[in-house]
Amino acid sequence: MPKIIIPTKLETVCKELLEAQGYEVIQDGKTELKALLEKHRDAVGLVVRSEKITAEVIDMLPSLRLVVRAGAGYNTIDIKHARSRNVAVMNTPGANSNAVAEEAVGLMIAGARYFVEGDKTTRAGLWEKNKYMGSEITGKTVGILGFGNIGQLLAKRLRGFDVKLKIYDPFVSLDKAREHGAEIASMEDIFATCDFLSLHLPATKETEKIISTQFFSLMKDGAVLVNCARSEVLDEEALREARKTKRIVFCNDVYDKDEAGLKTCNDIADIMLPHLGASTFEANNNAARMAANQTINFLDRGLAMHVVNKSIPDGLAPEYQQLSSALARFARSYIGAKAPVFEIQASFYGKLKDFSRWLIPPIVAAISGDNKITDIDQAEEYLKSRGITCKIRDTDEGKRYGESITVDLISGAQQMDRVSVRGTLTEGNIILSRMGEFGKLYYEPTGHTAVFVYDDRPGVLAQISQSMALEGLNIEDIRSPHNESGSKSIAILKLNAEPAVELIEKVGRLLHCHAAFTVHI
Ligand code: NAD
Repeated sequence: MPKIIIPTKLETVCKELLEAQGYEVIQDGKTELKALLEKHRDAVGLVVRSEKITAEVIDMLPSLRLVVRAGAGYNTIDIKHARSRNVAVMNTPGANSNAVAEEAVGLMIAGARYFVEGDKTTRAGLWEKNKYMGSEITGKTVGILGFGNIGQLLAKRLRGFDVKLKIYDPFVSLDKAREHGAEIASMEDIFATCDFLSLHLPATKETEKIISTQFFSLMKDGAVLVNCARSEVLDEEALREARKTKRIVFCNDVYDKDEAGLKTCNDIADIMLPHLGASTFEANNNAARMAANQTINFLDRGLAMHVVNKSIPDGLAPEYQQLSSALARFARSYIGAKAPVFEIQASFYGKLKDFSRWLIPPIVAAISGDNKITDIDQAEEYLKSRGITCKIRDTDEGKRYGESITVDLISGAQQMDRVSVRGTLTEGNIILSRMGEFGKLYYEPTGHTAVFVYDDRPGVLAQISQSMALEGLNIEDIRSPHNESGSKSIAILKLNAEPAVELIEKVGRLLHCHAAFTVHI
């Protein structure tokens, strides 16, 4: 059993999910890291939080293939050294976005309603009710700077307050802004007109101290400024100056160092929290789940999601790798798990045609069942060693397939058996759109799927459903179009649990199916 070490106090759901998938998991947040690893030098994976994963630590584990940071920041991991050892490093972005978005709402209200001062003075025996006349968010203008994961979730959470939303993010489209009922505005306009402003941009060279005098000078008196992003984006000295002439309520969660000691913003912050943005049970749980799923996807299926030390290019959404893998697995199951494959033909439509070197490895890993294939060199080596040709077809962009992928497998004694599977991505979900002669499937190929291909006639679906029900299997989704001539039909069923292979084969025989198989993703 491959061994995964979790040398930290991570939610146990990570361990449980990995164990359910057959991994041996050692979770120990007490033993000193190196002492722990010394005992488990055969580990293939590490799931960590903020432990320091240095070159020395990486070198202690000769079989290591993966380090997953359950969380977003990975500056505690030597990612370059990991790459040189062919160890993938992943993070779990977005797991804590909602926690931060909620914190921002909380800080806006706490700042505008004097929660902290109210608490302190009442606790001290005073009654300063008249001093703390606050203002409401409802109906106000709120500005969000940086409209990524957190910024967008914040916009969603603010909907109930009927606010007018203005956003600034140079990389966000008008459509995305409209989807959130927001107006794209300049930073000047946001600072001049907003009653509440929340920062959600990354710390980069371009954003360093970007929130400075020119914007503070525009701010409304009494406006609330929340920083749950990074301390580097705000010019504290400029804020100090601005607060001399007007009231700016500043609520802060982030510092140049996450450690005890007086903070440089002590005198200018109305509320200071010790970087609590991501500190919720739910965010921890999400990160633990994502870490487990990404580990399983990588080690079992060769799918590399959120790899931070491997250059999946910016323009390629990682879900497309998941899509190529899923299509290949469906094609593989259709043509027969043991049928020798002689040729793979793949078509990458739209922008995907520039990314074939990242989309081919998941196909080869899925077809071969060799989940160690994660890059193009390994994929090519495998194909060469098996004498399998892999052709990337020229695509006819006139076909208006958008960003989609087709995987064809050619097999059979005369190399005449062929199956072609096509899919795309819709709203971030992978979708199977065609399999063999059956189009317009629009099926999400995840979970437990059973497929039956049969001569079209009434009553077959009912018989299939009944056979599943008799085994206690619930059908969660079903697609059943027929082919163009109407002679054959396909039934694709999403089941709530894995069906026994014998059951599917039995139903296949009973209904004289041309094909009957299962796929689990
Ligand atoms: P994200 O990458 O999803 O979004 C960041 C957005 O900022 C992107 O849409 C990007 O286009 C935009 N952006 C980049 N440069 C910009 C600029 N010059 N002006 C305006 N927008 C710009 O990131 P996210 O997950 O939403 O995180 C946002 C911030 O929150 C990050 O700084 C992150 O470090 C911080 N964060 C804080 C906590 C916490 O505990 N307080 C937790 C998680 C993340």
